Amino acid sequence: MSITVKNISKNYGTQRAVDSISFSIEKGEIVGFLGPNGAGKSTTMKIINGFLKATEGEVLVNNINVAENSLDAQKHIGYLPEHNPLYLEMFVKEYLNFCAEVHQVSKESVSIILKKVGLNPESHKKIKQLSKGYRQRVGLAAAMLHNPDVLILDEPTTGLDPNQLVEIRSLIKEIGANKTVLFSTHVLQEVEAICDRVIIINKGQLVADKQLSELKGESLETLFRSLTN
Ligand code: ADP
Ligand code: MG
Repeated sequence: MSITVKNISKNYGTQRAVDSISFSIEKGEIVGFLGPNGAGKSTTMKIINGFLKATEGEVLVNNINVAENSLDAQKHIGYLPEHNPLYLEMFVKEYLNFCAEVHQVSKESVSIILKKVGLNPESHKKIKQLSKGYRQRVGLAAAMLHNPDVLILDEPTTGLDPNQLVEIRSLIKEIGANKTVLFSTHVLQEVEAICDRVIIINKGQLVADKQLSELKGESLETLFRSLTN
């Protein structure tokens, strides 16, 4: 279980949204992917998933080349897209059963995952009746139904209220314990709360890749400000 990103770049027309980024993440790591809006986080994550082709470079997930074998690689990846699109009119369980069919996994996986993300009490409701925090749990459940060992979570906590934030952070920490997790955020405290390691990008370029323990008293905030201005 690992993610290896080798010199990936992405051009949108004349704009270089991602510029020669490289990093690798090993099993059991929960890595915060931090950067201001427009830094290139979502683009990088879509490339790691095989949803978008890099202009240059390559990505390996569990040693599978994602661009060459995207379906195979996606069996190992759970992806929670930014804005978490959901079918609001569907019931929670109905939606997850539908996702289970798409992934060709058993209905039993749905019961297991409902429990894991703490959705049982809400599973009979329509998605539109859920709070934002519970909707994120539905997205997380959908991303994890096929039991992937790599999770790519794009701004999973954006728009949550403080209580929901705490709950979703601890859920990510819990489910990430034996997986490989890359999650993006533009909130510094989030990285401090969940991760051991931070990768910072700005204007498409990687500007830092550090263990939080390496910061040696320097605050993440100071580092972030100095690198992203
Ligand atoms: P982040 O997730 O860090 O906010 P994005 O990866 O979404 O950054 O965007 C990086 C840059 O690429 C931004 O300037 C954005 O406007 C641009 N961009 C993103 N997607 C597209 C697209 N499909 N077409 C053109 N430009 C895009
Ligand atoms: Mg984004």
